[in-house]
Amino acid sequence: MPEPSQANHPAAEPDSAADAAATLDPQDWQALRVQAHRMLDDILDYQQHIRQRPVWQPAPAAVRDTFQQALPRQPQALSAVHEDFMQDILPYAIGNAHPGFMGWVHGAGTPVGMLGEMLAAGLNANLGGRAQVPIAVERQVTHWMRELFGFPENASGLFVTGTSMANLLALLVARTQALGTDTRRQGLLAGGEQLVAYASAGAHKCIYKAMDVAGIGGEFLRTIPLDGNFRIDLAALEQAIAEDRAAGLKPFMIAGTAGSVDVGAIDPLPQLADLAQREGLWFHIDGAFGALGMLAPDIAPRLAGIERADSIAFDFHKWLQVPYDAGFVLVRDGNLHFDSFALPVAYLSRDMRGMAAGSPWPCDFGLDLSRSFKALKTWFTIKVYGTERLGRMISATCELARYLARRVADAPQLELLAPVELNIVCFRYRCPAGSNADLVNAAIVVALQESGIAAPSTTTIAGHLAIRVAIVNHRTQRPDIDALLRATLELGEKTLASGVGQGASLNGFGFGFGLRQDAAE
Ligand SMILES: *Cc1c(COP(=O)(O)O)cnc(C)c1O
Repeated sequence: MPEPSQANHPAAEPDSAADAAATLDPQDWQALRVQAHRMLDDILDYQQHIRQRPVWQPAPAAVRDTFQQALPRQPQALSAVHEDFMQDILPYAIGNAHPGFMGWVHGAGTPVGMLGEMLAAGLNANLGGRAQVPIAVERQVTHWMRELFGFPENASGLFVTGTSMANLLALLVARTQALGTDTRRQGLLAGGEQLVAYASAGAHKCIYKAMDVAGIGGEFLRTIPLDGNFRIDLAALEQAIAEDRAAGLKPFMIAGTAGSVDVGAIDPLPQLADLAQREGLWFHIDGAFGALGMLAPDIAPRLAGIERADSIAFDFHKWLQVPYDAGFVLVRDGNLHFDSFALPVAYLSRDMRGMAAGSPWPCDFGLDLSRSFKALKTWFTIKVYGTERLGRMISATCELARYLARRVADAPQLELLAPVELNIVCFRYRCPAGSNADLVNAAIVVALQESGIAAPSTTTIAGHLAIRVAIVNHRTQRPDIDALLRATLELGEKTLASGVGQGASLNGFGFGFGLRQDAAE
């Protein structure tokens, strides 16, 4: 990369007055404003004209090399650094803002959410606690979520980075419920019993991770098989609970999934709620993207039972399109939530008046003390678009998925691998007997990603590698689906013709990738 020419950028002259004051504010606010508006225009241009770009492109070595520089000792002009961003960073993002991005489950973001985030950064509020209205904004979002999910007045909510963290916090509250608050001081062994949790084979791996880091042990998350519709098998679940009780273990939590990451399946929530009640277990729901389907009148009825959960984990950064990151945990029993994280010592230093008022604080409900103002971009998004429009956008992604499923069913070269429950379509390119369909389909997905036309991901369905299209993006429209299908058929034919999947190794054809990519998000 050529060095940006200094001529284009007013040099950041060492300024003795500024140095003396040690402030980082500009000497010339007017010049900063001009540059700031340029930066805002550039990023809005990116969003407005994103269709003209490839979904994704690999970064050339020269670009990657620019991130191997030594620690900068001397100042550079903001305009020069922004130019670096425009040249070397912006074109090489993963592309989830692009309508052709259909991989994993990523939100696209919106200009409104971006502006909310910009204001939050300008305010630089720390949402750990204290008497400040930004915390009232977070509580406002909590009220809205109580209303949406039919949770009681006493329910508590907290913004976190994502559903992985939200699942962990919910699991820790469930642990407190099972073992009492003494465990917080004495550790898991003091209870003398081994906790066990249950989730389906389609549950997200972050639940395993939460069991691991909570010290309970990943092996004590029982993986319950799926039924024919990719939902947790209730009979197998009941049996596993009975076996664990018989073995002297202590079942404590069922983690249902509302919108599985692989295929978008929704576990039978009312039956799970009944079972959890009968067994005296905590009923958690991982609704990372699916829970906000509550905003869509055609999806909400399928989430019936969610109002009976003890806790729900979900993301505003997926279906609601809030810019990353914005996860949320909602807990029915706010007191228990508080008792699971608040430290009495810290709590005593609160006040009725002044800046230490307003207790309890967000830091009493989770692990983070310093916290960003994620609530603001979410508040902007919900207020500006309104829930009806957001719900229609969510419905539209499901309608597109059904459209894709119909087109797949009509194409003799393709076959659907799972029913389309929500917004996720899993299918594959049919291969002649004797060829390795997994290799062929993996190659097609990589070729699609490298084409810049569309970016699906892969997953494994009943032992078969599937092309997985998750339509989470509010920008995606029918022509984008058509382009995906056209490219899939073309690349499928080419891949078969090239001999991939017929005994030859993929790497021999220049495909340098691992075959199994898990649908991690
Ligand atoms: C995305 C997802 C997660 C993980 O959420 P993050 O926000 O990425 O931490 C967990 N469960 C499901 C079902 C998901 O779709």
